[in-house]
Amino acid sequence: MTTRVNLLDLAPTDAEEQLRAFAEAQGVGAYRGSQAARHLWTTPTASFDAMSDLPRAFRAELERAFAIPRLELAAEQRSEDGTRKFLFRLHDGQTIETVSIPDGDRVTLCISSQAGCALQCSFCATGLMGFYRNLLPSEIAGQVRELALLPEPIAPTNIVFMGMGEPLMNWRAVDVVLTILNHPKGCGVGARHITVSTVGVLPGIEALARRPEQFRLAISVHAPTDELRRMLMPVNIKFPLERVIDAAAAFTRRVTFEYVMLGGVNDQPGHAAELARLAKRCGAFVNLIPLHPGGAGSYTPTSPEGIKRFASEVARHKVEVAVRRSRGTDIAAACGQLRVERLRRRPPRAANQNGEVEIA
Ligand code: SF4
Repeated sequence: MTTRVNLLDLAPTDAEEQLRAFAEAQGVGAYRGSQAARHLWTTPTASFDAMSDLPRAFRAELERAFAIPRLELAAEQRSEDGTRKFLFRLHDGQTIETVSIPDGDRVTLCISSQAGCALQCSFCATGLMGFYRNLLPSEIAGQVRELALLPEPIAPTNIVFMGMGEPLMNWRAVDVVLTILNHPKGCGVGARHITVSTVGVLPGIEALARRPEQFRLAISVHAPTDELRRMLMPVNIKFPLERVIDAAAAFTRRVTFEYVMLGGVNDQPGHAAELARLAKRCGAFVNLIPLHPGGAGSYTPTSPEGIKRFASEVARHKVEVAVRRSRGTDIAAACGQLRVERLRRRPPRAANQNGEVEIA
């Protein structure tokens, strides 16, 4: 049996090229290939059989030669504030999460790039479960496609790689996914509305910087000194803060610093001043994130007043700062929480079992 080509793993123009050549070989005219290609991302269609504008016999041939696999929706939670969280099951039983966050006329999708994560940040539910594997482009962009295929489709205005996993540890797939999400023959989301969030995987930041599109970069800083950051984020040993900040400063497009507020740990005035100094070096915007209840570790959230004071201290140094509104707190919407809830009894794997992790 020949293996079918998974069209959803390809950049849209590559998929179209293959489909056009196939249609021509089938004697139905190359334009039928372009027509089929539009069903992948532009106006997503669930199966070849459902592509009703194509001749029936050609649809059957497509089915024999190509695959457009679905992700199975295993669970969904809806928050009172409109946030929705989806748990998708992959072909090998792995589960990943996607969150949709409506806000006025914007809808932001938070997508996953790995099943689990090897980096074990001490405050993160996904880090707690360990690493399973990298996702394929069809499984990352497929999250967006699945939401477009819902009976009430969700069309994102913004997409953030802030779900499960470290996207820049899976650059080979993320590189293709960025094209799928942004390209006019893909999902057509503007590059400025697509943010890749990283703990600071340097080769990945450099690779992202080489892309000509205006994709945004968010750095998970979470601690303004190497000493503290090493305690919270073991990855800081491999990619120390100073080098991450240098890479962010060299990134010519807009950079955001993400900073989760951990009571009594990283929320003192001295931390704010130091964070502001780093942000100034790369012209970064600072996003303060209240700790989500139900995450990992034994941390306590900084009080709302404490966060306000911290924000004022950052702003006093003439750095733009905002406090992220907590969304979906009633549905475990922080990264990895829904999956962690479902797998409570499964022991996490250690970071050194991460044979599949690939750095940029
Ligand atoms: S915060 Fe991100 S990088 Fe750190 S363990 Fe969680 S998913 Fe991985």
